[in-house]
Amino acid sequence: MSDVGARSGDDRLDCLVVGAGLSGLLAARTLDDAGFRVLVVDKGRGVGGRMASRRFGGARFDHGAQFFTCREPEFADWLERWTSAGAVTEWCRGFRGEDGEGHSRYRGVPAMTAIAKLVAENVPVLNPARVESLEIADAAAGWTVRFESDRELRCRSVVASAPVPQSLAMLDAGAAVLPVEMRQRLDRVEYAPCIAVMARLSEPSGLTPPGALTLESGPLRWMADNHLKGVSDVPALTLHGSHSFSRDHFEKPDDEVAARLLEAASSHATVNVAEVQVHRWRYSEPIQGPSERCFGTTAPAPLVLCGDAFGGPRVEGAALSGLAAGRRAIELLSMPGA
Ligand SMILES: Cc1cc2nc3c(=O)[nH]c(=O)nc-3n(C[C@H](O)[C@H](O)[C@H](O)COP(=O)(O)OP(=O)(O)OC[C@H]3O[C@@H](n4cnc5c(N)ncnc54)[C@H](O)[C@@H]3O)c2cc1C
Repeated sequence: MSDVGARSGDDRLDCLVVGAGLSGLLAARTLDDAGFRVLVVDKGRGVGGRMASRRFGGARFDHGAQFFTCREPEFADWLERWTSAGAVTEWCRGFRGEDGEGHSRYRGVPAMTAIAKLVAENVPVLNPARVESLEIADAAAGWTVRFESDRELRCRSVVASAPVPQSLAMLDAGAAVLPVEMRQRLDRVEYAPCIAVMARLSEPSGLTPPGALTLESGPLRWMADNHLKGVSDVPALTLHGSHSFSRDHFEKPDDEVAARLLEAASSHATVNVAEVQVHRWRYSEPIQGPSERCFGTTAPAPLVLCGDAFGGPRVEGAALSGLAAGRRAIELLSMPGA
């Protein structure tokens, strides 16, 4: 990394990126490529955020994002790099129960987290490290970032890529006051929850290739056989609850939600369960967000908010938001006095 953007004689980081999901990693990558001193922190043990994969009992599951599409040329450039590096392949061109079949649906290789791991190879990441608060001592000093571990760190700017309510909670905990109109718009961002059930099966699901279907009604919204998808060596189902089922059952015990979703799945597949796990996504998908790709401000200190709430509720939206956020942070850091 060159030191084009770094300030001489200043030991602060130029930018701390909160969140090692795709948006945060691509924001960091953009800053790092331009020569700024950047660090990504994430509360999770791995990288990828909602592009999540898990293994148990010899099975592997994608339990967050299932696939992605590509519409914009800027994202197509990244897709090409990831495909050439072997981290992405086309899964199929559509699923049963879905409108708009025909265009490519891509998946990570061996699983969705592979993409985030590849982007993270060139970016410094510290995890697990949960940020408790983002605060300003005084405008000239920039940000003080406090972690759950009591550790603290100073930086000139922050890119906050966590789901918006989580980013606002960190800013509120640090008593950082945002411009009024920006705050009002951020307060209006809403997400739907999703309960994910992962079931290792003792025999094949009987689904037909490509191994997934979308469902319009009932408690189940999506089911996929990770074996047919090419992710798992053994039959392994991922089930996603509908928004309303997930909202109504979010606090219910694992065995209850798993039983309901497995029963719904058994109308479409052979579901002989050997082992099951449940994951709850509180902020699975933004259902209302700004049309801009990111928000940036210099008050109270250089700050950019990004993520799929800004770029569109999908992997491509998160990526484009992160890239825009990286560029916006560079602009803010390049302003006189920053
Ligand atoms: C169940 C489900 C199914 C989906 N299916 C699809 C699909 O098929 N196709 C598609 O295109 N998209 C899908 N998506 C959406 C896609 O996963 C997201 O749009 C995208 O991954 C969001 O990336 P992001 O970087 O904006 O946020 P995230 O991936 O959520 O990254 C934010 C990161 O911030 C971290 N963080 C939060 N708080 C803190 C803190 N206090 N301190 C430190 N770190 C913190 C989190 O740990 C997380 O890693 C799905 C999502 C879910 C949950």
